[in-house]
Amino acid sequence: MPCDKNDHIGTHVWPKEGPLVIERCERYCDYCDTEENRKHPWKFAWFLRRHVEAVHIKSEGAEYPNVQLADGWYVSHILPSSLLFTC
Ligand SMILES: [Zn+2]
Ligand SMILES: [Zn+2]
Repeated sequence: MPCDKNDHIGTHVWPKEGPLVIERCERYCDYCDTEENRKHPWKFAWFLRRHVEAVHIKSEGAEYPNVQLADGWYVSHILPSSLLFTC
């Protein structure tokens, strides 16, 4: 769960490949998703985006090299629900 808004449960999709959209409300890295990670929320979503790209997509041995960080923001709530369950 990458943000703290209870009504967003299930709306943020962090795929194992394909486009990843990180929204303004997201503060935690769902690829790390450890206790340590949740103790230190990113201050802004774009810090989180930078972390995800540097660590999980572009680094040597990154776990998710096939994920593309999408530019800009979407409202995931309006995506068709079929997209929410592809991972
Ligand atoms: Zn959210
Ligand atoms: Zn991470």
